[in-house]
Amino acid sequence: MAGFIPEDKISEIKYAADIVDIVSEAVLLKKAGKNFIGLCPFHTEKTPSFTVSPDKQIFYCFGCGSGGNVFSFLMKQEGLSFPETARRLAKRYGIDLPIKPLSPDQKKKISEREGLLDINRRAMDFFNQALRRGTAGQAARSYLAHRGISQKTIDDFKLGYAPDGWDRLLNYFDSQRVSPSLIEKSGLILPRKKKSGYYDRFRNRIMFPIIDANMQVIGFGGRVLDDSLPKYLNSPETPVYNKGRSLYGIQQAKEKCRAAGTVFIVEGYLDLLALYQHGIENSVATLGTALTSDHVRLLTRYAGRMVLVYDSDEAGIRSAQRCIGTFWKEHVDFRRQDVFSEEKADTHILVLPAGHDPDSYVFKHGPEAFLKAASKSPGIITFLMNRAVDKYGLSTEGKIRIISELQQSLAAINDRVAQALYIKQLAERIGIAETAILERIRDISADKSRRISTGVPTNTPLSGSKIRDEKESVLEAMGPEGIFTGSRIERQIIAMMIQFPEILADVNNYKVLELFNDDTLKGIGESILEINPTSADQVSELMSQADDRQTQALIASLAMGDESWNRKGCLRLLGKFVESGRKLRDGGLLEMQIKAAEKINDHALLLKLLAQKQKMAERSEKQKMAILNEN
Ligand SMILES: [Zn+2]
Repeated sequence: MAGFIPEDKISEIKYAADIVDIVSEAVLLKKAGKNFIGLCPFHTEKTPSFTVSPDKQIFYCFGCGSGGNVFSFLMKQEGLSFPETARRLAKRYGIDLPIKPLSPDQKKKISEREGLLDINRRAMDFFNQALRRGTAGQAARSYLAHRGISQKTIDDFKLGYAPDGWDRLLNYFDSQRVSPSLIEKSGLILPRKKKSGYYDRFRNRIMFPIIDANMQVIGFGGRVLDDSLPKYLNSPETPVYNKGRSLYGIQQAKEKCRAAGTVFIVEGYLDLLALYQHGIENSVATLGTALTSDHVRLLTRYAGRMVLVYDSDEAGIRSAQRCIGTFWKEHVDFRRQDVFSEEKADTHILVLPAGHDPDSYVFKHGPEAFLKAASKSPGIITFLMNRAVDKYGLSTEGKIRIISELQQSLAAINDRVAQALYIKQLAERIGIAETAILERIRDISADKSRRISTGVPTNTPLSGSKIRDEKESVLEAMGPEGIFTGSRIERQIIAMMIQFPEILADVNNYKVLELFNDDTLKGIGESILEINPTSADQVSELMSQADDRQTQALIASLAMGDESWNRKGCLRLLGKFVESGRKLRDGGLLEMQIKAAEKINDHALLLKLLAQKQKMAERSEKQKMAILNEN
């Protein structure tokens, strides 16, 4: 229902809502200087690193890097959408939300959705009753008992039984006067092929209602009681059910995931129930589909660490290869925001011993063994590397195949620092020069637009973009003098711009942002220059402009600092940045060229390059002095 709340009402809510007020309902806050601190609700911690600033109306956790404004807090804490959050806050602060009159089309959509959710809930109760009672449910009850499913698990997950027969559910709804065309839309009944009328989709099956994070029944899975096929039958996609966005068990798991900081992702209903029953409640199951980026995005709300559990190497490899890009995009970026974070968001692959699925494994070996195996499970890239090495061996032929097999996955990592580190790891593991692997990967990712603008003119003599890229990656990975430093300075500069707006004119005059390597930071800097810097609502305005949660957390982290800025110190920082930036961009390349010239004993070229280096140093000195002398 996005977009139904008028913009001026959103502003009114923002003005009325107090973040300390709202956060206090979920977190015990203590005053600490200008701010409040408490134990973070988004990760497990013993000493408080969760900070709320009443002045800036933002929160930031120095432990896990989550941050944002009052809207982001409620969305993350309660798993609400933006409009839901706005409604909640409006109600609490007594703001009338005159809902814009809906168009007939919108009205129809909403009432259809509500109708379908209602039908699903009633069907769930019908199936649940059928499982509890009578002789028909007896076979289903014994099947579940035979699988070791307890009565408590049946109750907690509202399992059910679809009776045998063509029209049992149909008759039930008929007695309640529900229109068959709406039931048909829910996927619970199908039109008969040869004559008029309908018949039940699910017959003589154990029913697993699929419930979303907001406790709405969105669909069903049904399993046969014997070996007949198809073993599983799921609801079709409907206006309320999309399997690529839904996870079985999320309603039970979300709080547990939050508390544990980890989520286990399995592939089947019974796998999930087995883990749940053994106390591993922070688990969800995909619904007959590969893990999608929507799944990952949903789960990052609840847990930083994800463990994907598979019953075979092949399934693990296929899934790892398929979702590697998704993870780097949706999941791992989230950890880069926070330089202080020790608890890193992480994705692992757990392959169970041959012949086991999670269900059989926990029943046979118990939950401790499962958790122990999970704690040793390799990260997603390491997993792929191990499997490739196992498969091809370390002969020359083998190494070539290993690189071919891994190049796509490595290219999919859109975090250049992480990518360079993994390349280094692979290079060491199989004894091949990093540059050789890099070259292969750069060819693949050449089209991918996520390139850092280097600021080096394209006509720089001897420059090849490939060499420059390699050098950068190596610098990025190796630190401490690489782009790590540059990026830290960039963070510092943005923090300064937020906390000390007097400096904005200088940042603008010296075109400092043009030298930024990090596009996100650069974007934030540009927004700051656009917003009237004297406005007290600067931070909240920045938050509204940020288009995703990660950027909001980044802004919160930068705004939260308590440094005392003065003009002189600020100018020194800008000077240092301009100088180091230039050194890195031009000097790094030049150093490489000098080394190459030395290697091939080209004295004429060497002299030319050294002269260039000298000139560059003088130029950057001049620019630095210009900034420093300003004051
Ligand atoms: Zn935290």
